[in-house]
Amino acid sequence: MFKDIQPLEIDKVMRRAQEAFLQYKRISGARRAAFLESIATEIEAVGPALIAKAMEETNLPEARLIGERGRTCNQLRQFASLIKEGSWVEARVDTAIPGRTPVPKVDIRKMLFPLGPVVVFGASNFPFAYSTAGVDTASALAAGCPVVLKAHPAHPDTSELVAGAIARAIEKAGMPKHTFQHVHGASFETGKGLVQHPHTKAVGFTGSFAGGKSLYDYANQRPDPIPVFAEMGSINPVFILPGALKARRETVAQMVANSITQNAGQFCTKPGLLVSVEGSPLEQFTQALDEKMKKIAPTTMLHPGIASNYNKNRTRALAQKGVVVEAVSDDPPKENQGISTLASVAAGDFIDNPTLFEEVFGPYSLLVKASTMDELKAAVAKMPGQLTATIIGEESELAEQAEFIQLVMERAGRVIINGVPTGVEVCPSMHHGGPFSATTDSRFTSVGTDAIKRYARPVCFQNFPESLPPEELKTPNPLGIWRLFDNEWRK
Ligand code: NAP
Repeated sequence: MFKDIQPLEIDKVMRRAQEAFLQYKRISGARRAAFLESIATEIEAVGPALIAKAMEETNLPEARLIGERGRTCNQLRQFASLIKEGSWVEARVDTAIPGRTPVPKVDIRKMLFPLGPVVVFGASNFPFAYSTAGVDTASALAAGCPVVLKAHPAHPDTSELVAGAIARAIEKAGMPKHTFQHVHGASFETGKGLVQHPHTKAVGFTGSFAGGKSLYDYANQRPDPIPVFAEMGSINPVFILPGALKARRETVAQMVANSITQNAGQFCTKPGLLVSVEGSPLEQFTQALDEKMKKIAPTTMLHPGIASNYNKNRTRALAQKGVVVEAVSDDPPKENQGISTLASVAAGDFIDNPTLFEEVFGPYSLLVKASTMDELKAAVAKMPGQLTATIIGEESELAEQAEFIQLVMERAGRVIINGVPTGVEVCPSMHHGGPFSATTDSRFTSVGTDAIKRYARPVCFQNFPESLPPEELKTPNPLGIWRLFDNEWRK
């Protein structure tokens, strides 16, 4: 058992974070990069003990956790490369034109600077990649912001082991001691206190809609509101066009069933909604999908709270008007297991029921049967913002759906053709975000190197003598970064 942080200690922690910020923000990109690389090395050095502890605390399988640890270290190294190269600061230089008439032009330059101390709430479903040294922490540290991490109560020991690795990296890389601080707190007051502390300048969160929205509201109640980058619920609709149902029924059914149930459906990108047009191809597809869902055994969920939430939300969804159970696992679930479930509903009943647009976190999906393509489009128009939307179709029918694809783009941060939304690649072109209620700010991603942009803000320097601005903005470009210099991209 770890000691919960007390309200008075929050102030101490945030003061230390602010003190660390004043030093850390001045440390070069190259040294910060070495620090991030060192965190990855130290995490790897914890070895099998880290995987064993995470297995014990989360019930996730070994192979998944080994893969997730690799992804986490890879993420840290990607941010290290990004800041070592340096162009991420988006430097712009517009040199003076003293002779311009009628008004002379002054010298103006700008670049991104770190925001200040960031409070991160570790996620339960990714104990490494979205938790202690996950993408929020990595991107904030890369940007030059100290991090205060609130450990997720479902994997406190795993979180401690990773925090220990970060502490060793701080020492080895010679970073300010409080560049990273790790706190525990079982009451919502802890989260509220951290978000509302005057030294906190931004918040990163992954979890439930209720949790993310509360943190967002706390931040907006401050005298000086701050950004909260909360990734919350998404039902990730998958639209299956009739041609694909006819041509690839079995393959699509298997692909979708796996995606719904992988790791007990505990992914923010799990396809919680399938939408298609009624007819015999859909009937045959539903039968194929039913058979596959029945064969998928129940799996133990991350923790008893998540399992009980799953049962509660699943029961609530199944009780809605017009919803019928299509298939459940043949095996009955044991304690804390989630049972794979496919339900269906007619589009008419779906469109008018906001409850059916809510995430059921676990191995559950709802098949919406539209009578026409127009009804299917009406369902899209009603949908709240999504992290992802997927369209499965034959090439010939996709070519006729340009308008539909436009409609889908308005609702989601990532649009997938002929694939599944689970499995998020970590690369610069990834966007893991989406309009509200998938996130609180659709302009930013929480996966990939662009996640750094959440924790930085532009500062503009007008009429500065050449000796004063940071290296990134000096005319000879000593760091050799890409810059927009007098409206031309130059290195
Ligand atoms: P959660 O309830 O949203 O909690 C995540 C973190 O936020 C915890 O540290 C929690 O603090 C804190 N928190 C939540 N509400 C708060 C509030 N009102 N004030 C201050 N702090 C608050 O997520 P969870 O525990 O991981 O899982 C619960 C449910 O969230 C799941 O059943 C699932 O429905 C959903 N979920 C969704 C995703 C997704 O990716 N979409 C991921 C994980 C979970 P405490 O430690 O005090 O509880």
